[in-house]
Amino acid sequence: MQAELISVGTELLLGQTLNTNVKFLAEQLASLGINIYFQTTVGDNRERLLQALRIATGRADLIILTGGLGPTEDDLTKETLAEFLQLPLEIVPAELEQIKSLFKRSDFNWTKNNDKQAAFIPGSSILKNEIGSAPGMALKNGKQGYLILPGPPREMTRMFLQYAQPWIKEIFQDELQGILYSTVLKFMGITESGLEVLLADLLHQQKEVTLALYAKTGEIQLRITTRAQNRKDFAQKITPVFNEIKKRTTAYFFAQDDVTITDVVAQLLLKKNFTLSTAESCTGGMLAESLTAVPGSSAYYLGSIVSYANSVKARLLGVPQDLLEKHGAVSREVGMAMAQQIRVLTGSDLGIGITGIAGPEGGSPEKPVGLVYIALATPDTTICTECHFMGDREIIRRRSVLRAYYLIWQYLQNTL
Ligand code: ATP
Ligand code: MG
Repeated sequence: MQAELISVGTELLLGQTLNTNVKFLAEQLASLGINIYFQTTVGDNRERLLQALRIATGRADLIILTGGLGPTEDDLTKETLAEFLQLPLEIVPAELEQIKSLFKRSDFNWTKNNDKQAAFIPGSSILKNEIGSAPGMALKNGKQGYLILPGPPREMTRMFLQYAQPWIKEIFQDELQGILYSTVLKFMGITESGLEVLLADLLHQQKEVTLALYAKTGEIQLRITTRAQNRKDFAQKITPVFNEIKKRTTAYFFAQDDVTITDVVAQLLLKKNFTLSTAESCTGGMLAESLTAVPGSSAYYLGSIVSYANSVKARLLGVPQDLLEKHGAVSREVGMAMAQQIRVLTGSDLGIGITGIAGPEGGSPEKPVGLVYIALATPDTTICTECHFMGDREIIRRRSVLRAYYLIWQYLQNTL
């Protein structure tokens, strides 16, 4: 089965917006076992969109359009698809009411051009937009399936996962038998080559099940793929190799698929009834931001001091002045003092301290850019890792945050 993606939007052609929708959709379709041979980007232009639709219909079973679903005149995806298929668009009263009530609840005034967001091809499925105003549309016409999704990535991904993907699975169920299923295992605290050595025989032995390693920022991923009738069948087929991998990697394997290190740490803190606080220097609050992005984090996360300047490290956080003078702000001693102080000041069970040189300036032969000390203070002891990260400022900061999570994860794993 083949799909084709058509991204609609002049801003994409001009390079003003990076086309992230195709990355998401291509991955999603690949995981359904659907091939994509062509992706097209076309401006907000009726004739060129008609042309793209004609070509796609001639060579694909499923055509997915994103963007141009809004109320304005240059949003013309739905109208153009209807014209191409020679089908009418009709206002659906319930949808119209829905959109009108959305306006009532917000500060925006209703204008007549919003009507068209409630117009659909009769017989199509309306895909709900939970976080925006323009609903999507799904339609089987002859042999082809057509999906229209909104342009804004957050609306698009949500609508795809919740409504479009189940629709595809139902409409194309015969074509999707025995498709490729895969799962991604995630590891930290080990390099790609380290993991390759650990799993060498497994990586090369497999026949029906394929294993592939990928290095991502701060973590290594292992994709397990095989053909199966359904998810359950897939789980059974990979169980032996999955168990063997887990057995060999207990110190590094932390999560699977969409679960992140943040999620895992959050769950462990909750489960073990531990509270956490953070003192950050070179990451400027990135760890605090990421911790509080998890709903319900107030149950275990107490707070943070972003102690960027030495004066704040000393006066607010209470890092002894002589430590700062003797060892410098970027040192094992100061990292540990930061973790201990924030723990004491907030009364948390665990405290994290991060101090380092994110660059591009500020490095020296003794303390080069990428040197970061990450410390964890616990009720019994304080540990500190000295990291030498490669990459630019952004990457060094992100890796520091991930390594801090790894420290907490490791500690909680080994604590009753
Ligand atoms: P709206 O109701 O907001 O007008 P829409 O469905 O009409 O939604 P567009 O007008 O095409 O969508 O785009 C809305 C926003 O989404 C724009 O900021 C645009 O840059 C972004 N966007 C559109 N298509 C993509 C894409 N393929 N990848 C990433 N961003 C996109
Ligand atoms: Mg628009």
